[in-house]
Amino acid sequence: MKTLKLPKDRLDLFASVLQQFGEIHAPVAQNGQFVFRRLERWSEARLDYTRTILPPKKYFLPPRECLFRYRRDTGYEAAAEGLDRRLVLFGVHACDIYALNILDQVFAGKFPDPYYQARRRHIAVIGIDCTPDEHCFCRSMRADFVDKGFDLFLHDIGDDYLTFVGTALGDDMVLATGSLFSPVTRADIEAYKRRSEAKRGAFQLDVEIRDLPEIFELEYGHDLWEELGDRCLACGSCSMVCPTCYCYDVTDDVAPGTTEGNRVRTWDSCLFTSHALVAGGENFRASRASRIKFRFYHKQRGFVAEYGRPSCVGCGRCITACPVGIHIVEVINRLREAEHAVAG
Ligand code: SF4
Ligand code: SF4
Repeated sequence: MKTLKLPKDRLDLFASVLQQFGEIHAPVAQNGQFVFRRLERWSEARLDYTRTILPPKKYFLPPRECLFRYRRDTGYEAAAEGLDRRLVLFGVHACDIYALNILDQVFAGKFPDPYYQARRRHIAVIGIDCTPDEHCFCRSMRADFVDKGFDLFLHDIGDDYLTFVGTALGDDMVLATGSLFSPVTRADIEAYKRRSEAKRGAFQLDVEIRDLPEIFELEYGHDLWEELGDRCLACGSCSMVCPTCYCYDVTDDVAPGTTEGNRVRTWDSCLFTSHALVAGGENFRASRASRIKFRFYHKQRGFVAEYGRPSCVGCGRCITACPVGIHIVEVINRLREAEHAVAG
């Protein structure tokens, strides 16, 4: 992978060049938190952010979208918006890019999703380094570094960004800047290694994932699931903010008495009572305990069986979003302790 260097004090110039590649969206401060949105001016960008409320996933799989319209006399008509809208997402953290790589597997794999794929083709991703806070555990989930899924990735090495060029589009962006980028030196590489080492040492949360699928297999009947079910409000916040949750519902918006309608896709959550409700009133996961257990089992066991890794990147959003303090790392560590107690 090509590696170059960009002086930090030329970042605003670089951003102005990037406008030719699409509308620039980046994290901005909003009511004490951070959100990804379109920049009115470069000075709004907060590249020192911790995490955004919603992950960049919202650009590729919008919370609600009309897939197509239909009329009895004319048939179907494409209606999804923004499929070829060119955007540049600036300042995406490694864990969120890793999450997009996971969604790529889901939406570009066995059952390709043309809506997701079209947006993935048209939206450029520029990654940026971050500093972990007390809720981050991406290192444990092996998602603190990405080697694909971005066009450019900027690593802070002091006065410069050591920049990985991930795609041909990233290369075009570099070329469009003229001489803003320069070759890296041995001193830059050493600075990169020192910064990476310091970041690794800054994590406060740690979870061992090596044998998690087996532990989940063995702890299916653990009392913890009922305990969590008693606490959980089934609000769905944890899955709404999660960069790897991809459940959605598809409904028809049809006004009574008309012969036309919209087929609409909306984010759904496996924590909602209605998620496993089927015709006839049967609900396969009627209790909150069964639903929260399902969420954990899908992420840490089922997804591993299907795709070879958990569908959690350790971004910490579910920890900060849960109104009753259900903490994914504490849950996993309690199951592990229970297993060790049995083994001991
Ligand atoms: S489960 Fe929680 S920590 Fe893991 S990716 Fe989802 S929101 Fe982030
Ligand atoms: S955010 Fe917390 S309370 Fe809400 S559904 Fe998730 S685990 Fe339950």
